[in-house]
Amino acid sequence: RAKEVFGPAHAFYDEALAREVKEGLELERDLSRGFVDGEFYLEYQPIVAVENGDVRSLEALLRWRHPKRGLITPDIFIPLAEKTGIIQVIGKWVVQQACAAAVTWPAPTGVSVNVSGDQFKDPNFVTHILDCLVETGLSPERLTIEVTEAVFSVDIDLVCRSLAELRSSGVRIALDDFGTGFSSINNLRLFPLDELKIDRSFANQMLETSQGAKLVDLMHKLSETFQIRTTIEGIETKNQLDFIKRLGIGEAQGFLFSRPFAAAEALSYLQARLAQRAATVG
Ligand code: C2E
Ligand code: MG
Ligand code: MG
Ligand code: MG
Repeated sequence: RAKEVFGPAHAFYDEALAREVKEGLELERDLSRGFVDGEFYLEYQPIVAVENGDVRSLEALLRWRHPKRGLITPDIFIPLAEKTGIIQVIGKWVVQQACAAAVTWPAPTGVSVNVSGDQFKDPNFVTHILDCLVETGLSPERLTIEVTEAVFSVDIDLVCRSLAELRSSGVRIALDDFGTGFSSINNLRLFPLDELKIDRSFANQMLETSQGAKLVDLMHKLSETFQIRTTIEGIETKNQLDFIKRLGIGEAQGFLFSRPFAAAEALSYLQARLAQRAATVG
């Protein structure tokens, strides 16, 4: 009887799950081939100063143009790349590409690069980043390394040492997706930080409920207490922008300002912004 009722639904579920697992395994095997074949590329999304719209940094966001499946987003392939270990190689390439791009942009616009916890396990992680800076001639203050709270599950001492070393060389450190991790507040004490990025899920709901708004305000105050700059992700509407302006949040990122764009568009985007700014300042 139960089988009669639930059978078909179960069969469907099993099939869907099996397909998902199979596709995941195929993608996993395909990662290194795709990387070697040049299917990975970076897009860039502006992080702007809330008060005047100046572009402070462009965040590098990795994309995979798969020959059969089309565009695959990092939420799908980064976990697979971490699982297979190829994130080490891809991650190095991302830093290199981002530094080489940023040095062609008008200073002081910086570049923000996402880094996986696994990359810290490479004993040459810090050296490689510093080498990229020397080779490209990008000044360290223009590079921000973004980590999420997931890095703390790697090895806290190792991560803190590596970040402190980068920071003492002038590289900036940002804690990404803040508020979604499991040990948020203690991390602010353990951890050398320049920037805290409030996760976009908070921007999403901050105008819906007064609790949502209070949480954003609280995270911003927390970050101010530690003399850390606050960025909020996922700003999509003018109302959201007005609200974070009132809270005094310094920097924001989101579709309201710009979607991520191709690397080739970065320079002309920045030049157009500067020209516009010069015109308004008069
Ligand atoms: P993230 O670092 O938090 O990046 C912000 C994500 O939010 C990006 O998604 C961006 O496209 C999206 N976004 C920005 N503004 C808005 C908005 O207004 N509305 C909405 N709905 N979304 C917005 P994306 O590019 O899919 O990247 C997802 C995540 O993948 C990133 O989150 C980051 O954790 C990871 N990732 C991306 N590139 C790399 C990389 O090179 N290395 C590593 N390790 N992780 C990466
Ligand atoms: Mg990020
Ligand atoms: Mg984020
Ligand atoms: Mg994220």
